[in-house]
Amino acid sequence: MPELLIKNGLVIDPERGEARLDILLSGGKIRRAARGIVPRPGLEVFDASGLWVFPGFIDAHVHAREPGAEESETILSAASAAAAGGVTSILLMPNTFPPLATPALLKKYCRRAAGAAVNVYFSAAATAGRAGRRAGNLAALKAAGAAAFTDDGSCLPRALLPRLIGTAAALGRPLLDHPEEFALTGAGAAHSRAAARLGLAGIPEKAEWLAVLRGVLAASFAGPLHLQHLSLAASVAALRLAKERGWPVTAETCPHYFALSERDIKRDDADFKMKPPLRADADRLAVLRGLADGTIDIVASDHAPHSALLKARGFKSAPFGVIGLETLAPLCVTRLVLAGVLSGRRLAQLLSANPARLLGLKAKGSLRPGADADLTVIDPVRQKRVPAAFVSKSANTPFKGMKLRGWPALTVVAGKIVYRAA
Ligand SMILES: [Zn+2]
Repeated sequence: MPELLIKNGLVIDPERGEARLDILLSGGKIRRAARGIVPRPGLEVFDASGLWVFPGFIDAHVHAREPGAEESETILSAASAAAAGGVTSILLMPNTFPPLATPALLKKYCRRAAGAAVNVYFSAAATAGRAGRRAGNLAALKAAGAAAFTDDGSCLPRALLPRLIGTAAALGRPLLDHPEEFALTGAGAAHSRAAARLGLAGIPEKAEWLAVLRGVLAASFAGPLHLQHLSLAASVAALRLAKERGWPVTAETCPHYFALSERDIKRDDADFKMKPPLRADADRLAVLRGLADGTIDIVASDHAPHSALLKARGFKSAPFGVIGLETLAPLCVTRLVLAGVLSGRRLAQLLSANPARLLGLKAKGSLRPGADADLTVIDPVRQKRVPAAFVSKSANTPFKGMKLRGWPALTVVAGKIVYRAA
């Protein structure tokens, strides 16, 4: 087994905070974190002077488009994009074509992920066929490898929600909900004000927060529920209230909801089209507060690749979604830590410890000796523009050309270097 010594980095531990330490990795595990570890001859050493060392980032919301749209992304290309983005584990969403809703399909794609650059986890559809009519066979899906359950892309049906929560909890797997009342979204393409500027139908706020409220209420009596991609001040407020009451709700947001608002949509550019849509600036600020004060648990990318051809259809008819695996780290570092919104330690919780806890990954999200040797090393100084082309097979990002710091310098999975910045 390879051994690796990461020397002189600022180690940012979600439990203990920051310290200048060396980290010794061997046998796929973290062996020691201490000052002045002397490398024995032949040991590979990475000098992390001036760099930040985090437990590997875990992205709990990734669309790999396989099966069904492999020209936009595959499981292996998504994993390579993750490695280049400093992400060591990804949770894939099941809204593929066909959906990951049967044990046979799940097993097939779990096998396909074996050669991936990073750890790949699969969520399976929560309802049968992801059709939203009856509960899926969650026990069989778990046995086939499901790490979580969700109908992401669609909201979990209200009538089934308590039962799905109970079953997922009994199986020890998280249930994730995409909070959106589709009847209220209708043909909406963007947040109301931006939609009006573009001459399109709007997505009303209540499409999200009604679904958030009913999720929070279901969790209050049925058990744990994780809410995906929150974008609204009202959603953050509902979550805060639920947590004050001790209800078992967790939630994520995505970098575009704290880094952009609907005002950034200057023209008909479908690279700014995603679900939920970019909101008002007051919502963006509420999301930032929710991240800083512990209300929001996780930042996930909602990496949603689409080909340039599909996005060229324009705001009205292009599919929803933006890529995010390769911009997750610099957006979080620049807009959250360097901007003074929250600490490096809090970022380690949002990107590592909390997603590990959600997914029950006991050996991840931590820098304790014995934890898995998954590490993300970040350069907080070097500034670079978001490129126009990516390791991902798609390039649909609203951040193209934006100057950011906090790009990954080194990505380590199970003690092996899977990405090193040039
Ligand atoms: Zn979603």
